[in-house]
Amino acid sequence: MIATELQWTLPVYPQLPIEPLSGHGVMLRTTDGREILDFYGGHAVVSLGYGHPALSAAIRAQSETLIFQSNLVPLDVRAGAVEALARFAPAGLDRVFLVNSGAEANENALRLAFRQTGRKQVVALKGGFHGRTAAAAAATWGCSESWYGFPQTPFEIAFVEPDDSQALEKAVGMDTAAIILEPIQGIAGARALAPEFLRAAHAFAGAAGAILIFDEVQCGMGRSGYPFVASMHGVTPDILTTAKGLGGGFPTGAVITSDRIADPLANGDLGSTFGGGPMACAAITAVIGAIRDEDLLGNVRKLSAMIANTCLTGPITAIQGAGFLLGLRTGPPAREVRDELLARNILTGTSADPHVLRLLPPLTLRQEHVEQLAAALGEIVT
Ligand code: PLP
Repeated sequence: MIATELQWTLPVYPQLPIEPLSGHGVMLRTTDGREILDFYGGHAVVSLGYGHPALSAAIRAQSETLIFQSNLVPLDVRAGAVEALARFAPAGLDRVFLVNSGAEANENALRLAFRQTGRKQVVALKGGFHGRTAAAAAATWGCSESWYGFPQTPFEIAFVEPDDSQALEKAVGMDTAAIILEPIQGIAGARALAPEFLRAAHAFAGAAGAILIFDEVQCGMGRSGYPFVASMHGVTPDILTTAKGLGGGFPTGAVITSDRIADPLANGDLGSTFGGGPMACAAITAVIGAIRDEDLLGNVRKLSAMIANTCLTGPITAIQGAGFLLGLRTGPPAREVRDELLARNILTGTSADPHVLRLLPPLTLRQEHVEQLAAALGEIVT
């Protein structure tokens, strides 16, 4: 089956040697009958796990009622989703633009910053990842070597070391349109930025008249144990982007911002055919409803603490990150630990750091799953 897929697709994804057929809760069932505990959640997308009754019912019902209409017409289901998302976001971020992916959200956030400021430069962080479209990729660390793929970047970009407030202050000036950063760097290995650094970024952006963008595509939507990392630290950016867990598996993303940035916009300034489609909106409302009704933020905080207390064992030498975006620092290469865990029916992920294993489980994870992970790690001989 893997060979058949490769025959018809572009050879751009290294694939794992398992073939999931179905999922229930946080478990995947493979074609050869294995039951695999999913601590990776499809790159942080499967926020409610597999077969969540409310999400499945919302998607099914919407597909039968009205599968699509564009932004040419107002929709009740869209009104519900954007209101729920604005209420879920930090106070002051009350205006939503719906798109289809994380990269598209960041592309539009940067576009808004250029529009608002009339400036040309962006400051981003070393280790940051923002997506593979032109602007998002240009703000991604290592873009010229590996992520970019276009002949030139569309704007000037400066990269500074995470948590180096002095370097950030130097890089931000009267040419700076935006500072863009992930408050917890995901692909870099679940690296949580210091709250003081986030506050400094907020102050420098404010003083220079630049737009502060928090990319919460991976760390947002409850994954940190708070609605957003911005909410956790009480630092509100000018623009917040999110995607991945937002639709629980249905592709969707969002740019969330303030009246100050939204009000000057006019018809046609931004656009997206599929963004804000009714299926995505039904999924967003169901995801936010489940996070609230099942106290998933409390669950994330409780079980994240349990992982920190019990999984520092076997090949794991330290644990970083927050909530359910965790980086387990490994003695041996993380890839080897991932393979050992997969042999024990636990799926985890790697990161850009060869010694950090990434955990991005569904927010519906339970205590027994953490116990299973801790036991499996304890068995791995280093
Ligand atoms: N921003 C962050 C922090 C991400 O982790 C990702 C994807 O991994 C993106 C943006 C890009 O999102 P997408 O793949 O949905 O375009």
